[in-house]
Amino acid sequence: MKVLSKDHVIYFFNQENPACYRVEDGETFWVETDDCYSGQIKDASVKRPDIDISIMDCSVGPIYIEGAMPGDTLCVEILAIQFAPQGVMVTSKGLGVLGERIQEPDTKIIPIRDGFAYFSDSIRLPLTPMIGVCGVAPKAGLNVHCAVPGDHGGNLDTKLVTVGSRLYLPVEQEGAGLAVGDLHACMGDGELSGTGIETPGRICIRTSVRRDCPVSRPVIETRDALYFLASAPTLDEAIHTAVSDGVQFLQEKLSLSFPDAYRLLSAMCDIQISQVVNDWKTARLHCPKFDTKIETL
Ligand code: CA
Ligand code: CA
Repeated sequence: MKVLSKDHVIYFFNQENPACYRVEDGETFWVETDDCYSGQIKDASVKRPDIDISIMDCSVGPIYIEGAMPGDTLCVEILAIQFAPQGVMVTSKGLGVLGERIQEPDTKIIPIRDGFAYFSDSIRLPLTPMIGVCGVAPKAGLNVHCAVPGDHGGNLDTKLVTVGSRLYLPVEQEGAGLAVGDLHACMGDGELSGTGIETPGRICIRTSVRRDCPVSRPVIETRDALYFLASAPTLDEAIHTAVSDGVQFLQEKLSLSFPDAYRLLSAMCDIQISQVVNDWKTARLHCPKFDTKIETL
């Protein structure tokens, strides 16, 4: 099985980045990734203001997927995530939801072993592995920093981008231009202090080109549900788009009028927050697979 090294990274998602790797449609492969700080924080002496934040969230790729053409959908199945033996969490003035309460920057190194993150001598956390950045080349003319989420995916910071999930992304360029990075050993919805447990590691994924389920934005499929993701400058706008995508899906799949699909969505679906700490916020509509007609995209 191919292992794509972390030597080739992008800092922006666009259509100008030359492809660094090539994989077949349906191929399974590993991708090695640094943490979101590009390995700049090796120990607790390095604080967030000391590092170069312009290279944060850099992502390994672009990966050219044979056969992917504009208008197709790329299905990224996450099969396994493995971690290096330590992760890091920083706090810094202004970072996260309560950043105004941080006076001095601080770095915490968190050992990872045997399926746990050792937050302190007395607190150990079961790992909740997830991928922070996973995206494809956006529409022509766009140049989106890897730290920003959007319709192309990118820094979605969504804990459901995890082992066992499928992430569907809209292909805008031949070969798709997939890039991934920003692994987290643990992260809750919101990424509230501004970081998860940021950890280098490697990801095993399978990429397949789909022509039967066009998407405009990222959609996640788990065994029990579909999640319609949307990112926007405000959470309100993100919620509006995610709900709109969900209603359209229910209308088409179940042959419903708008008012009926809207009512059904209100009865069965949940709005959830993926993250509130990036420049654009990400919300997702959780649509459980409550009817056989909506078991697939
Ligand atoms: Ca992130
Ligand atoms: Ca991160």
